[in-house]
Parts: sequence; C-alpha cells; structure tokens
Amino acid sequence: MGIFSSTKCCICGNKATGENKVKLAERLLLCADCRKKCSPDLNPPLYAELTSKQILDDMRVYAENRAEYADIFKPDTIIKPSHAICNDVLRVDMQNCLWSSGASDEPEVFTFEQIKNYKLKLYTRDVRQDQNYPTVPASRPDFPTCPSKSQITAMSIEVEVDHPYLKYVTLWPMDVFIPEVTDVISGYAISDEVYGIFESMMSGGKEALHTRTWDEEFGEAAETLKKLKELMDTGIITQEEFNEKKRQLLNM
Ligand SMILES: [Zn+2]
Repeated sequence: MGIFSSTKCCICGNKATGENKVKLAERLLLCADCRKKCSPDLNPPLYAELTSKQILDDMRVYAENRAEYADIFKPDTIIKPSHAICNDVLRVDMQNCLWSSGASDEPEVFTFEQIKNYKLKLYTRDVRQDQNYPTVPASRPDFPTCPSKSQITAMSIEVEVDHPYLKYVTLWPMDVFIPEVTDVISGYAISDEVYGIFESMMSGGKEALHTRTWDEEFGEAAETLKKLKELMDTGIITQEEFNEKKRQLLNM
C-alpha cells in the first residue's frame, strides 16, 4: 500500500478523518460514522483483527440485537465504577436474564448464557523510586494482588462472551493515573460487587436470586392434600392411597 494508502472509509467510501476513525485488518479504515453502527463493545484492539466483510456482519448482528432486545431490556441492577475517567456501566436485567456493559445508551445486549468466563486483571506501575507506596491486599482469594514495589493504576474485568465478533467485553472498576490507596481499596470493592453479580448470572439468574417461598413450593400440594384427606375420611380412598399421593406431591 505504501505511503499513498487510501484515507477513505472501506464501508461508506467517505473520507475517514478525525480521532474516532479506526484501522481494520489489511490497513483498511473505518470512519467514525460507520463505527457508530458497530457494536459499542468493539474496541480498537478488536477492530484491528476484523476485515471489512466482518465489520458489515457485526453491523448486522448489532442491529438485530437492538431490534430484539431494546424494548425488553429493563435493567434493575446498575453498577457504576466510582472513578470519573471511565464512565462505563454494568447494567443487569435479572428478570429477563439480560445484561450490557459500556457507556452507550444503545448497548449491545447479552444473555446470561453468553457469559463464558470473567477475570480481574491488574495494571501496575513500577514504583521502585517511591517505595513508600503500600501494597494493598486483594479482597478475595481469587483476585490478583499488587506485586511488590508496584502501584496499581487500573483494574479491568474481562468478561469472555459467546459472540461472533466480541471475544470479551471489558469493565473498569478502577483507572486512576496517580492513585491513592483508597482508590485501590474501592477498585477491589467494585470488582467484588461485579464478581458477585456475575456469579448470580452464571448460576441461572432469576432462579438463583429468587428463593422460592413455602407457599410457592408447597401451597398447591397442600390444597390437593386437604382434598385427598377429605376423600380418605369419607372412605373414597384408603390410607395407603393417600400416603402414596402425599409422597408424590411432596417429592418425598
Ligand atoms: Zn464510513
């Protein structure tokens, strides 16, 4: 391609200028307007791996996703990282088992079944010059801890998803250029909260969060048993028949 490579968007053909254009695979360009039609969870490192054909396909997947979920997605759990630098948000609709991430008002919506895995990553800076920076312990045994003589500047949770183009979506519980110890503690606390929510989502969402009450579990069976007892008392069924029915109804 050389130095005279095209500056045109490979999708719409308009001149791709400005900060929001991105480079695709094979050094093709995608303009800011076309980028808005792609999934908001596609981030620059992912764009670099996609061809123009795959971008068109992603636009279709995103448009279909909006058409399917925009009206039914009603988040009841929303987590915002406390740091202003990243304004992305985890939104979860526990009733419909749907969720989204990122700052977009028109997010791509995922089902709970699409979550494959999630893990917390730390970004650290060597602070050998300033060894007074205290190491903050992780709040959970499965979280990575700050290596010695380093300072945590950011934390991300990479959520691996089952999706044609997104390998993962990323949440940022912490992102501070010059962090205080309190920023790190708060980052771990937000990560903890996010992990808790993903644990519920992966264990079945609605079912896991909703503990069945006695009434829901046995109410109907109790009504039936009352009627059966009347039948037994009037001699229509025997004690054995009643016992057998009772075992079946209460799953004993
Ligand atoms: Zn374009």
